[in-house]
Amino acid sequence: MTGIISKPGTHDKLRILSEDGQYDLACACGTKDQPGRTRGDNGKWIYPITLPNGGKSVLFKTLMSNVCTNDCKYCPLRENVDLRRCSLSAEETASAFMDYYRRKEVFGLFLSSAVAKSPDATMSKLNTVASILRKKHKFRGFIHLKIMAGASKAAIEQSLSLASAVSLNIETAGKENMAKLSAKKDYISDIIEPIKFISSVTGKGNRYHRVKQTTQFIVGPAGETDADIVKYMFGLYDRLKMHRIYFSAYQQQSEDQKIQSAPQPQKPEDTFTREHRLYQVDFLFRKYGFTQSDIACDKNGNLSLQADPKQVWATNHPEFFPVNVNKAHRNDLLKIPGIGPVTAKKIISHRKSENLNSISDIGKDGAILRKAIPYLKF
Ligand code: SF4
Repeated sequence: MTGIISKPGTHDKLRILSEDGQYDLACACGTKDQPGRTRGDNGKWIYPITLPNGGKSVLFKTLMSNVCTNDCKYCPLRENVDLRRCSLSAEETASAFMDYYRRKEVFGLFLSSAVAKSPDATMSKLNTVASILRKKHKFRGFIHLKIMAGASKAAIEQSLSLASAVSLNIETAGKENMAKLSAKKDYISDIIEPIKFISSVTGKGNRYHRVKQTTQFIVGPAGETDADIVKYMFGLYDRLKMHRIYFSAYQQQSEDQKIQSAPQPQKPEDTFTREHRLYQVDFLFRKYGFTQSDIACDKNGNLSLQADPKQVWATNHPEFFPVNVNKAHRNDLLKIPGIGPVTAKKIISHRKSENLNSISDIGKDGAILRKAIPYLKF
């Protein structure tokens, strides 16, 4: 039987719903030990994030409801699970957010929901909150709205007209893997087509050019390999101009979440390392000019758990080194272990006026830069 809370107050519901929304990382990044996974002391709905410029900020993040009619095997909120179920109304959500915003305790809102009734009915609730904030409270700040798998173009367009950012979680790599996870979600029509639609109307020169699209993979539940995820990840950045991709290591919580057609689950610490490696690949794609063919996986199709993907590339390409620091193109400098975009910029700027003669001309003699020495020629 489903657990029912008798008349919970807004804070009781926020406590339950923000706890249930924790696996949607939205803006977090890193391993389980890093701060992206921790929340504020004053409520789990207060959610610290790292901004694109490296600064820190705080979001008000919650589900509007944990009542769900879907059957996603990896999700603790799926239908028929005995759980404390509750929902926030649109007015209640908007006014709770504004209380925190007026006290300057949050700068923006991240709103998601489980899918009660239908994707469009759920989207309508989320859109109503955003509409109340924009129109009644004249809130001009950051709103991230979750797009439900299977939502109509009309519902998506309404979200795009109100939000600063939207995300529809891709969850896994390919329709065969999705079929292992849900009998109700159609990978192509419910997930890929809406992501493509959002991509076609956002970004430079388009109607909703200010709206950023992000997505998230769950790492591990369907037995998908890292190579599968890397292939989709590259396509999402390269062809669909995805703004950011997030990864959430799957944590099996009960026996009935075992997916029969998937291989034995990995040890939890290995799944977290996989998640971390995928974030490293994500950085290599977005900041280092790496492409899909630069990412090597083992014979099982997985990234090394022992070495980071950039180090693996360097080990596999001895012919590329040593790199001449005084002549190399930026993208070649970025292939050197220990050299990132900031150091590459410093090298290029320094050599405009004079040649670099030793590692000390590049920067402080730290452990990371020392890693680069065997790969360099001056
Ligand atoms: S639709 Fe969302 S909340 Fe519902 S079971 Fe699937 S992942 Fe969980």
